[in-house]
Amino acid sequence: MQSVSTAIPFVDLTLQHQPIQPHIDQAIRTVIERGDYVLGQAVVEFEQAFAKACGTAFGVGVACGTDAIALGLQACGIGSGDEVILPANTFVATLIGVLRAGATPVLVDCDPKTALLDLGAAEKAVTPRTRAIVPVHLYGQMVSPTLLRDLANTYDLIIFEDAAQAHLAQREGFRAGSIGVAAAFSFYPSKNLGALGDGGIVVTQDDAIAAKLRSLRNYGAPRKYFHVDYGTNSRLDSMQAAVLSVKLPYLEEWNRDRLRIAEQYNALLKPLNSKGLLPIQNQSGKGHVYHLYVIRAFQNTPTGDLICPIDRDLLHDRLNAQGIQTGIHYPLPCHLQPAFKNLGYRAGDFPIAELLCQEIISLPMYPGLTEEHVIQVMGTIEEALATPSAIQLSA
Ligand SMILES: *Cc1c(COP(=O)(O)O)cnc(C)c1O
Repeated sequence: MQSVSTAIPFVDLTLQHQPIQPHIDQAIRTVIERGDYVLGQAVVEFEQAFAKACGTAFGVGVACGTDAIALGLQACGIGSGDEVILPANTFVATLIGVLRAGATPVLVDCDPKTALLDLGAAEKAVTPRTRAIVPVHLYGQMVSPTLLRDLANTYDLIIFEDAAQAHLAQREGFRAGSIGVAAAFSFYPSKNLGALGDGGIVVTQDDAIAAKLRSLRNYGAPRKYFHVDYGTNSRLDSMQAAVLSVKLPYLEEWNRDRLRIAEQYNALLKPLNSKGLLPIQNQSGKGHVYHLYVIRAFQNTPTGDLICPIDRDLLHDRLNAQGIQTGIHYPLPCHLQPAFKNLGYRAGDFPIAELLCQEIISLPMYPGLTEEHVIQVMGTIEEALATPSAIQLSA
């Protein structure tokens, strides 16, 4: 019997919600009945549970991950005149967070194997004004905690993690969120732990930072109608917190499923490695939580011996023509975004980040993606590689 190929979405969130729908319904009803919709009991409960899961003492819920970065840095005392090092290869929200804290962003290039912040480049970017480094645990893999701490100790820098893609990731015995002074997470629906809307949190070991954050997210008022900080309104809703509390106990299981899928992709991709199609490297073993599964179709190698017969854009088109949705994370690096032209960066400043933007493609990845689907995706890729110019798309 011929197998029927089905459409495969990039992400399917309904799969994770269906089995726990009654619990979610109940949690929402409880909040409605209790009536504490803003900064209610559900928020306090979730903050504690999530901080504990990260191995930290405090969690402060905010409106989204971007606010978690902006307010988190502010709560750490970072602001005007302070230089903050961050990777050029990240989602723009990292940069927006640093800018909104009032600090001066200093972008650095990334490692070509892992796509993570290049710590050697970071060291070269340190000046007497550098106060903090924001490692981004991109795609679900942590930047090396030991190397980060060495760097931070040497130059007396604050480590503020952008862990928006790395809920419960581990490396070298550390959990994401517990390496530095504080860390930001996002609960955007498609993140490893997602709300039914926007949400974010800052976790920290420092009670003074936590207290400052509670003030900053709530109009800068440590107590009602008494404003000591230049704050804002950025709170995690009770309703979202209640939903997140229902989902949190499943997170480890969902992450394990992501790892299972990634390992299956890796195994099926092996025979294609010599054709210039390779995964972004996992250097953290079972601690990688695979928010995204990203592969690279090499078009440029110094020796020219590892060129993929099909480039990234064509691969994307061929997969999409077969109903397989893919993503690109990200197609244009931060320093080349029109919005940040005034930072003064130019094409060529971060060659690795720029090259990756041309060559990477993210394959479908979500808990519940079946073995058959992974085989179908890889079969379609193999076919595309074998017939690189057969582009009669019957769409
Ligand atoms: C999603 C994300 C953010 C921002 O989170 P929001 O909740 O969308 O504001 C920040 N950094 C990274 C790396 C992200 O992936």
